[in-house]
Parts: sequence; C-alpha cells; structure tokens
Amino acid sequence: MPDTHNDSASAGAMRETDYDVVIVGAGLAGLYTLHRLRGLGMTARAYEAGSGVGGTWFWNKYPGARCDVESLEYSYAFSDELQQEWHWPERYGNQPEILEYINHVADRFDLRRDIQLNTRVTAAVFDDDTNTWTVETDQGDTVTARYCIMASGNLSTPRVPDFKGIESFKGKWYHSGLWPAGGVDFTGKRVAVIGTGSSGVQMIPIIARQAKHLHVFQRTANFILPAGNAPMDPKRESTHKADYPARREAAQHTPFGIGGFPPPTQSALDVPEADRNAAYEAKWQEGGSISFLYTYTDLLTNQEANDTAADFVRNKIRGIVKDAETAELLCPNDHPMGTKRLVLDTGYFETYNRDNVTLVNARKTPIEEITPAGLRTADAEYEFDAIVFATGFDAITGAMKEIDLRTTAGLTIQDNWEAGPRTYLGLMVAGFPNMFVITGPGSPSVKANMIVAIEQHTDWIVDCLQHLREKGVSRFEATKQAEDEWVQHVNEVADSTLYPKANSWYVGANIPGKPRVFMPYVGGYERYKAICDDVAAKGYEGCVMTREKTTA
Ligand code: NAP
Repeated sequence: MPDTHNDSASAGAMRETDYDVVIVGAGLAGLYTLHRLRGLGMTARAYEAGSGVGGTWFWNKYPGARCDVESLEYSYAFSDELQQEWHWPERYGNQPEILEYINHVADRFDLRRDIQLNTRVTAAVFDDDTNTWTVETDQGDTVTARYCIMASGNLSTPRVPDFKGIESFKGKWYHSGLWPAGGVDFTGKRVAVIGTGSSGVQMIPIIARQAKHLHVFQRTANFILPAGNAPMDPKRESTHKADYPARREAAQHTPFGIGGFPPPTQSALDVPEADRNAAYEAKWQEGGSISFLYTYTDLLTNQEANDTAADFVRNKIRGIVKDAETAELLCPNDHPMGTKRLVLDTGYFETYNRDNVTLVNARKTPIEEITPAGLRTADAEYEFDAIVFATGFDAITGAMKEIDLRTTAGLTIQDNWEAGPRTYLGLMVAGFPNMFVITGPGSPSVKANMIVAIEQHTDWIVDCLQHLREKGVSRFEATKQAEDEWVQHVNEVADSTLYPKANSWYVGANIPGKPRVFMPYVGGYERYKAICDDVAAKGYEGCVMTREKTTA
C-alpha cells in the first residue's frame, strides 16, 4: 500500500453546514451510526424511505422470513446491557422478532428524534469548493452536511424481472422485498412463486400450506441446508449470555464474523469417504450453513473437495423428495456448493411431496410473458390468482446507484461504477470526498455476519471522523491509487476461491447488463478488519486529508 496519505492546507475555510453528517438509511447500519455519532457530539440526520426503521427487516415481511445467522450472534454487540436484557425466542430470529428488536434499539437509545421516515434521498452532491454535501429528498428537503454516510443497504433494491405483460395481470402480484405490511392470505388461491433463492425457499413451504395449488418456477437449483430452527434453549441462552464478551471477541477472529464453530483442520480429500459423509451428516443434523462449510478447510477453494459436499447434499435431496424427476430438478448442478449464497430451510424439500405443489423448470422452459390470467412459458400457459416474485435485488450497488450521487467536479457514481463498483476498503470511493459507505462493495458485507460487519465499519468511520475533527480536516478522500490497489486485491482474493465460478448476485449476474465484477471481499472478516485497523494506525494510509485554513 503506498504512503499517499498527505496533509495539506485548504484554500477555503470550513463552511457551516446544517448537520455534521447526513446518514442515508435507518436500518441496522444507520441506527448504529446515529448512536455512535451522538457519542462524538456530532449532529446527524438520518433519512429513511420506509415508514419505520429496520431497513431489510422492515421491507422483507414475506411469510417465513427469518435470519440465517443465529440470533445470539445476529444482534448488536455494542451494548452489554442490550444483549443481556434482550430475549430471542428462537435459535434464528424471524422477521417480526428482529424488527421488534430493532425498534427496541431505536427507542432504548432515543434514536428516533434524528430520523426522518417516509423520506427517500434522491440526490447528494459534493461541492468541491466548500467541501460540503448537499442532500435532497423526495419530500422536498435540501440540507447540507460535512459528511455523507451511505447506510443504504446491500439488498434494498428489489428487482422484478422485466417480464413482458406484467401490467396486464388481473390477479395480485408481490415482491418478497416489498411485502404488504398486513400480510397476504393465499388460502384457496392458485399461486406462482418465481425464484428459489433464500426468500423463495423460506416462503414456499408456508404458501404451499395455504394455497389451493402452488407452482414454483425454478431457474437454478440451489444448495439448501436445514436451518435446524427450534425454540431457544434456556440453558444455551444463559450460558451464551454469561460468556457474551468473550464470544463477541471470538467472532472478531473468524472469517465470517460468527463465533462458536471450531475452525476446520483437514482437507475433505484427506478423509475416507465414510468418515467424510458421517461428518457431513452430523453437520446436516446440527443445522446451519457456516457450520457445514467449516467441515473441511478447502470446501470453497478446491473443486474436488467441494464435490464431496455437493454430492452429499444431492443425495439428501434424492432421499427426501419422492418423485425422482422433481428430486433431480431440485439437485443443484451448475455451481460449486457455497459459491451462491447457501440457503437454510425449514421443510422446503418435503414441500414437493405435497399434491398441491408443482415444480416448473424455468431454465428449460423460461417464462416468456405475464398474461392477464397468469403467465406463459416457452411451452405452457398457467392461470394464477397471485404471482410472487422472489427474484432478488439489485444487490450491493443498487441503492447507491439510484441516488443522483455526484460531485461538482463532474463525477457521478453511475459513471464511476459503470464497469463495476470501485472502492477503497469498501468504505470510500476515490473522487467522492467526505463520503463513507457502510458494508460497501469490496468489504466482507454479505459474506460476513452483517451486524458484525456493520459495527466494524461504523466504528472505523467514527474513529476516523474523530481523528479528522481533532486535526481540523475539512476534506478526506481515498486516493485513486489506493482504490486501484484495493480493487485488484479484492479480485485476486476472489480468484483464489471457487466463488467466481457461479453466476450469482455476488457478481451481479442476476441483473441483465450489470458488469460482472465480484463485489464482496472474501478474504475473511478477520483479515479484512486487520487491514482496516492497520490503515487507520498508519494515519489513514491511502487517503488524503486537507486541513481547514486557519485564520490566525
Ligand atoms: P436471490 O438469491 O437473488 O434469488 C432470486 C431467485 O429468482 C433466483 O432463484 C433466480 O434464479 C430467480 N430469478 C430471477 N429472475 C428470474 C427469471 N426471470 N425467471 C425465473 N427465475 C428468476 O434473491 P433472494 O432469494 O431474495 O435472496 C437474496 C439474498 O438476500 C440472499 O442471497 C441472502 O443473502 C439474503 N436473504 C437472506 C435471508 C436469510 O437470512 N435467511 C432470507 C432472504 C434473503 P437464478 O438463480 O437462476 O438467477
């Protein structure tokens, strides 16, 4: 990393702004940022498009929505009182519980007074002369701030494929990420679910129990493991809570930011087949994805090793699903296991043994058109009362690219990221001074426990802001060189794994025309954090600071 950090005197004095910081979004990231900025005595305003706080957990109210990281780990670590007093009723939090928790945090830390709901940020413009941001919203606000923090989320731009005829559909259609607040009752209805990622897999068993008939349109079969969800074991909860600080610290030293799993020590290929399958079986029974990936050291780096785990899962599917043709269609076969997001389920494969559920191969016979009565594929017409799009998101970059985000020097985020997102540490974008991104592209983000990743980013940013204030800095930006080197490092790390082999949303493959760039940092959370800490310890290496002109 070059020592490009410099510290020069500015041409202009620090201009007064309405706020020290504008925060875009009041999900888990925006709320914690607000809390930390209060601690610094900085003024901040958070704008949130939703009518409530919670981000992803506010919008994704579809039936069965549940986290795939255990609740005792998927929760804020910053307050021991909070983590001690909160009771999680189940091993994995479901959407209503997590939203309740987030609302509790907003109240407990008195965050609401600085949050403006029902307000979408439409534009953010950095003034190159005054080093300030001007932020505009769809409610007519125009405010200035020294810093802009993008806490706008990784999976917050729902995407309905551009199907012809969608406006003609006479029934009701829904997207998993824009679910109606009052829920939807599918009782007695003919329903289609399009998409079999995490959202589809969670909702399908529940909709199947209500619907008259459910057709599932699957384009790609996914690797799906049992969640093993269960009511919270009181003994487990009390032991965990008694040991919380040590457990949180342990999570910091793991690749996924999740503690409690002993790291693997052996290659899958060094173990006799029977022992290997027994190990996979134990993990299958235990439930969870990290635990399964932790069976052996090389499941994400060696195709042959990966094949052993993939075969185990395919055989499990064949054992559960009674109809052999359906079972085969549900067996993933076009990507290494774990290179698309592993999905956790509760009774997903068993659902295909029901008489009222039909699986349609949307790879062989793609959906061609939505019709007034339902939809048409390459070889058949279907009639539905409701269509559910579980078709995912314009992930990681979508939310930022929807904003008119630019500088008076002439840069726009859309142009800047035209060939794929570029950041320094996933935290900053060269050419966009005084802007920070929480869990942006090029950081572990979705490849780590999101709350751990959010707290790490926020803490780093807040420490940085404190440093800038102490030094009287009015402008802070990543250098192009540091950004180039980081982008190269992110790519090299990804290329040393099996991840790029999959057409996943990690590479933007689900959005037609989106440049194919591996977006998350897969070098591991612990390694990433060490790099961020080192950059800070070296006086924010790779960044340029411009000091306010002194008038003395
Ligand atoms: P997703 O993983 O992107 O899945 C979208 C699904 O829609 C895929 O099966 C995709 O098929 C299909 N699809 C898209 N366009 C289609 C078309 N034109 N025709 C037929 N099928 C089409 O989206 P998601 O399920 O909402 O999940 C997104 C991410 O959110 C997850 O990976 C996870 O990180 C997060 N999430 C987490 C949880 C949890 O914690 N348990 C729950 C929900 C979501 P292809 O695969 O062929 O593109």
